[in-house]
Amino acid sequence: MTRRVLVLGGGISGLATAFHLRTLSPDRAPEVVVLESADRTGGKIRSDADGGCLRERGPNGFLDNVPETLDLVKALGLEPRLRRASGKAANRYLWLRGGLWKLPSSQGEFLASRMLSLRAKLRILGEPFAKGPPEDVDESVYDFARRRIGEEPARTLVDAMVAGVFAGDARRLSLRSAFPSMHAMERDHGSLVRAMLAKRRAARRSGAKGGSPFGPGGTLTTFDGGMQVLPDALASRLGAAIRTGKRAMEVRRQGDRWVAQAADGERFAGDAVVCAAPAPDAAFLLGRGDPRFREALEAIPVAPVVVASLLYPEAAAPKALAGFGFLVPSGEKASVLGVLFDSTVFEGRAPAGKVLLRAMLGGARAPGLADLPEGEILGLVKEDLRATMGIEAEPEEARVFRWRQGIPQYEPGHGERLDRIEAIRADHPGLFLTGNSYRGISMNLCCRDALATARAVLEGLPA
Ligand SMILES: Cc1cc2nc3c(=O)[nH]c(=O)nc-3n(C[C@H](O)[C@H](O)[C@H](O)COP(=O)(O)OP(=O)(O)OC[C@H]3O[C@@H](n4cnc5c(N)ncnc54)[C@H](O)[C@@H]3O)c2cc1C
Repeated sequence: MTRRVLVLGGGISGLATAFHLRTLSPDRAPEVVVLESADRTGGKIRSDADGGCLRERGPNGFLDNVPETLDLVKALGLEPRLRRASGKAANRYLWLRGGLWKLPSSQGEFLASRMLSLRAKLRILGEPFAKGPPEDVDESVYDFARRRIGEEPARTLVDAMVAGVFAGDARRLSLRSAFPSMHAMERDHGSLVRAMLAKRRAARRSGAKGGSPFGPGGTLTTFDGGMQVLPDALASRLGAAIRTGKRAMEVRRQGDRWVAQAADGERFAGDAVVCAAPAPDAAFLLGRGDPRFREALEAIPVAPVVVASLLYPEAAAPKALAGFGFLVPSGEKASVLGVLFDSTVFEGRAPAGKVLLRAMLGGARAPGLADLPEGEILGLVKEDLRATMGIEAEPEEARVFRWRQGIPQYEPGHGERLDRIEAIRADHPGLFLTGNSYRGISMNLCCRDALATARAVLEGLPA
């Protein structure tokens, strides 16, 4: 009998898992069926190309330093289509005290910059001598930053960085779960500065890039046709294995098989099932078979995110021509979490003579914004663009994309929540969970988890 695996959810996590199931050991590959509730695959990854613009509704890039993603790109023959961020994007800004401040990119610039007070700069320089972590506490990112580099940098730099990555609140995210590499740097080296120096030394020896304390090195990368190129290529390889418009309503073990029932009543049976839907959907789907799943999965909050994409003539937004964009700490009077200068970061995103800007709003900071009418959202964005970048002109075009289930928030206790989910899962042989709700929100980490999940599924399948 052919072995078959059901994959529920056709975002990057489900598609990559299905692809690996097919290709990891081709001679004993199981049959795969991917059920996707929407009429398209890709989930949060969605690139709209029209009118000479390329707009990303969700992710706009990934760092080119995670082997699992790069191997996948290679296996799909997409390497020639990779596009790296332009050199102009090296300048990043912070909106602070009514002004845009360039983030220092060298020690000299850091010392000369007046973005932070002298006291704060001295405190950062003293990082190697900061107090160690409290015992047995799943520390928040904010508390960690305040302990290591002081209150002012935590309130400004780190608060803004967390909004940029998670659309999150640094006070309500677990350092260990949300930024495990930073947690490991302190654990292994006793200090971020010492860890960074060690990393740089190792990188120099191997010829790789070193990175910064806030993240691994790597260059922001996309594809010629935007991020959707990757899920599209996966979907095209998977072909008829993908069933769009099939919302799985329930999945249960029946005898030695798993059976998923779609909203239209069609039933699909398999030897194993991979749930690659976001935690709130997984809670519904798996909770019907085992109510313990509902409670455990619903405990992972998800912040809504709004993306506004605005097109201006270059002359109206000259500040957008030389930089990556800016982030806004929560203490500042602004509605946007940050603004990305899309057409400067990646060439060809807007027609000649125009700039495409992308603002992010909402998140854990202001979840209610996602429910505002489009006109009000655009009003807030335009107000912020006027204050921060001096843009007085009306945009030539403006679009708003809402993600009500935007980005999962790994709050303190996330690790224990995962342990609990894992303990329940262990009672259901043949059931696997992957996706951005658990072990990393970035596309890179979704690709990494998909590979590990496919390996675990193959290991457990009957011979
Ligand atoms: C605005 C925004 C900006 C982002 N920016 C970046 C970035 O720049 N870089 C980066 O690396 N990451 C970024 N991310 C995060 C990244 O996009 C996501 O983590 C990743 O795409 C999630 O993939 P996924 O497959 O796990 O989940 P999803 O993309 O959510 O896919 C899950 C799929 O499951 C389907 N589904 C749900 N329920 C069912 C069901 N019952 N039956 C069948 N199908 C179901 C859904 O329709 C969906 O297609 C961003 C996210 C957002 C929202």
